[in-house]
Amino acid sequence: MDVPHERCDETIRVAAPASLSCFGRPRAYSLLALSQAVLASRAGASRTATPRSAGDSSGPEAESLKRRSSRLPGGRMIALTVRGSVGNANLPIMALRPDEFYDHARAAADAELRLPLARMTGWNISPFEQDGLSVAPLRPPVLPEPARHGEGAVDCDNCRERDEGIWFNERWRLARIEGVGVPLVLMLFPREHYDMADLSDEMAAELGVLTTHLVRHVQALPYISRAHVYRIGDGAEHLHIWFFARPEGQTQLFGSWMPVWDDLLPEYPADIAEADAAAVADALVASYGGRRRVTDGLTRD
Ligand SMILES: [Zn+2]
Repeated sequence: MDVPHERCDETIRVAAPASLSCFGRPRAYSLLALSQAVLASRAGASRTATPRSAGDSSGPEAESLKRRSSRLPGGRMIALTVRGSVGNANLPIMALRPDEFYDHARAAADAELRLPLARMTGWNISPFEQDGLSVAPLRPPVLPEPARHGEGAVDCDNCRERDEGIWFNERWRLARIEGVGVPLVLMLFPREHYDMADLSDEMAAELGVLTTHLVRHVQALPYISRAHVYRIGDGAEHLHIWFFARPEGQTQLFGSWMPVWDDLLPEYPADIAEADAAAVADALVASYGGRRRVTDGLTRD
């Protein structure tokens, strides 16, 4: 990678790798790519660079620092300004603040703040054709972020529904999501109010095992090739893990467009989905334990 660099006490400039350009147009560059480019630049200057975590300013020469990213004429150069530690073997690189991230993204947008079409719209599995498609204008950051549903376990639907579902043990419950386009969507919740980062190691380990068993059982259903697993968590604080069943042979539903295809497709017959969900729940009782109704006696958990 050709990485020209220009060093002074406060500034390192690196060229954005050509691979970061999409369809010949400049795009927003990821912080990871920037970090890698800066480290490559420093390596070219025969120095050893060690990436450090954001906010770590404990080194003797790691004083106050600030950085600025910008697109230079032609959109191919990024300038980072790092102050206070250029002479140190450690190069602190900090995450972009919300306003900096917005400016960084906006630099790649047009006059209406519309970014170029995503590469994903050029995939042959995209549900949308590029002709006539436009990107929504970028919006500035919202700070503080709006509260998620059920924050602090206050008025949380998922706490209220802790006894609803098709499979239970003392800590977890499984439910079927109705009205979807793919053959089956299941959701796994802790019965108590936890976000993912709040799980104990024991519950995290159990989540891993349950996830694996559920993927195995969903993929064992007739005419299902894959179970996709998602955790997002921007809408509700109470942890909820999605399991999407991808129908066999429907190769257009490969990959990360599947939730969008799911929203486009007509509703899958509910009686079949219910029977499939029951088969998965029965298989989970057999392979892991738990029970089909919350009032049933405990089995193995
Ligand atoms: Zn809750």
